[in-house]
Amino acid sequence: MQEGFLEEPDITDPLIIEQVINATGKGAYRSVKKILEYIIPSYVEKGILDPAIPTIHLRISGDGRNVGRKVKHVMITIALLDDSINICKPNYHYTTILFPGSENYPTLKVAANALTQELQELSNVGIVINNTLWNFEFFFSSDWKFLATCLGFNAANSNNFCPWCEITKNQRGNGQNDWTISKSMSSLNENSTAYPGHKLPPLFNMISLKNHVPDKLHIMLRITDRLWELVLQEIKNEGLFNDITRNIIIKEMENLKIRFEFWNIHGTNNWNYTSLMGDDKLCVLRNFNLTKLFDPERAALIKSLWDGFAELYDLLGEKTTDPQYFRLKAKVWCELFLKKTVIDSKTNTILEQGLYRSSDITPYIHVLVSHVWEFMLIHKRWGLNAFSCSAVEKKNHDHVCYFFKKTLKNGGKFQNKTSAICEILEHENRLLFYTQNNISLSYPKPQYIHIL
Ligand SMILES: [Zn+2]
Repeated sequence: MQEGFLEEPDITDPLIIEQVINATGKGAYRSVKKILEYIIPSYVEKGILDPAIPTIHLRISGDGRNVGRKVKHVMITIALLDDSINICKPNYHYTTILFPGSENYPTLKVAANALTQELQELSNVGIVINNTLWNFEFFFSSDWKFLATCLGFNAANSNNFCPWCEITKNQRGNGQNDWTISKSMSSLNENSTAYPGHKLPPLFNMISLKNHVPDKLHIMLRITDRLWELVLQEIKNEGLFNDITRNIIIKEMENLKIRFEFWNIHGTNNWNYTSLMGDDKLCVLRNFNLTKLFDPERAALIKSLWDGFAELYDLLGEKTTDPQYFRLKAKVWCELFLKKTVIDSKTNTILEQGLYRSSDITPYIHVLVSHVWEFMLIHKRWGLNAFSCSAVEKKNHDHVCYFFKKTLKNGGKFQNKTSAICEILEHENRLLFYTQNNISLSYPKPQYIHIL
């Protein structure tokens, strides 16, 4: 399952950045009810929805794409989980909200106001289309930051870091497996500060907390980052992070056909390195020869941790994985992660090598070990792949690259600042027609666009 492992890069084209910054403050909204009125009849026609079982499982997704350093392009979409064949395709995620700006609570609250009102109404009374009263179950999926922001919750580095349980930073050590989803949206609706770390009323308070599903793509990307960081940290602690080691790493990356560089951060002793894209991360995780960096015993220990993680990633994508089996596997993996060094107190020699400390456990690792099995269980009908944000990220990335460049192309002058946003939604309206009628619609890939 390679296709679920894509990560869209930040947008760094200065022309696009300038256009997006110019458009900051201008947003757009397409009515969810109107989109549903348009698409539901065709889903019924195709047999994806059945009026005899009139429940629609609607997934709301959010994505904030970095455009340069200062601004984000934020997109919120809806998609039908019921359409399981198309849930991974960008064209079947319908854009409702679009704006360039910040991905913070006050901005999102204003931008999502019309959407949340419509969702509340759909949740309360449903919607009648062709004499069928449809009701809804809602789901929410995004990366950690977006999800926490929409929940009015702390940042991931806070003492209370988990949106689903009440674990604190110093409780990361033992019994990771005993934390289960313990908070509820109904408690937050009664009192938005019911749990430590919750500061503001959740924006999508009609969606249960169990249906706020973490994105498996980001779980995997960020944990791989952590495992790699820990290896580099260990080399630094040994005082071996020098040119020789850096060259060994670059050579090994070359063997794996991955372009990789280190560069010194000006005026410091710190080094930065190429941030790897999704597929390359997976390749490093599975194939990087750790014996180039460590003695055979150490290399084998770290390798077993990396392999265990790659296995968890595979299991995560399989709809047939037994959640209890995953729970057990994740527990064993976490124990290995936290393996303690055993020292002979008499001779002061190492009897058994250990790995990492509980403070090395990141929020994503906590979620993988403690909550993923539970999400698998709760959402068994759909599988966690159905909540991947990859399609929405791709849609947002491609839209920004294509439409903001296109505005420049039109006459070469900066035009009406809202035009790119409007164009995207006009494009989406056409898309609705084409996807519902099975006509293929494509626009050229961003890299083929040249400015005259
Ligand atoms: Zn938790």
